[in-house]
Amino acid sequence: MKRKLVIGNWKMNGGRQANAQLLADLKPGVAALDGVEVALCPPYPYLAQVAELLAGSTLKLGAQSLSRFDQGAHTGEVSAQMLREFGCQYVLVGHSERRSLYGEDDRLVAEKFAAALRAGLLPVLCVGESLAQRRNGETEAIISVQIRALLDLIGIQGLTSGVIAYEPVWAIGSGETATPAQAQAVHAHIRDLLAEQEPALAAATPIIYGGSVKADNAGALFAQADIDGGLIGGASLDAAAFTAICRAARD
Ligand code: PEP
Repeated sequence: MKRKLVIGNWKMNGGRQANAQLLADLKPGVAALDGVEVALCPPYPYLAQVAELLAGSTLKLGAQSLSRFDQGAHTGEVSAQMLREFGCQYVLVGHSERRSLYGEDDRLVAEKFAAALRAGLLPVLCVGESLAQRRNGETEAIISVQIRALLDLIGIQGLTSGVIAYEPVWAIGSGETATPAQAQAVHAHIRDLLAEQEPALAAATPIIYGGSVKADNAGALFAQADIDGGLIGGASLDAAAFTAICRAARD
């Protein structure tokens, strides 16, 4: 059975003291869960602190974004290599908040994904439709466009060297989750898209779900055939809720 992956996205939350408390509360319950890989993505300034607090545990470190460039005159940007140097293994690309609030389009997201791969990071490509697109029956078409932008730039081998996160925009931070059947249908569509290119790689690529995953809905989502784990926003800031979600991935 494939290992499940649960990633906590802290977004722009946290502080030195709050981070230390959260990790102290979290580590005993989520470290060394059989068959589950757990990663945390704090804001950039706390990467060093969180790396230090995670040292010696099985929990992995990730970042929430990165530059598409490797180095140079790019004020305010952070490169993939810098993230590596701070112990990151994962990095999110194309989160819907980056797309909608900071104008990141499919091309830029693909370039960031490629930059992450060049540095040996595992990029997590976030894709998802808006509520209007779902209501118009455009969900599969939108997801296909978002994924094909990656395929065009880096090919199936590159795309399947990372992780895909299906995050319906209408479910992020809204308290409204896709039903397990709705999520599974989109995950199966993503798997089919990859399989059209290379069946073996499609089967091996983790496809995780994000969008108001909580302790009480995680089990049903993770039980779906093509859901390989979760990308967790709000609930990752609550030690008890995040621990329960990670345990649901194990069960
Ligand atoms: C996210 O930020 O990726 C996310 C899924 O947030 P939430 O769990 O709060 O909906």
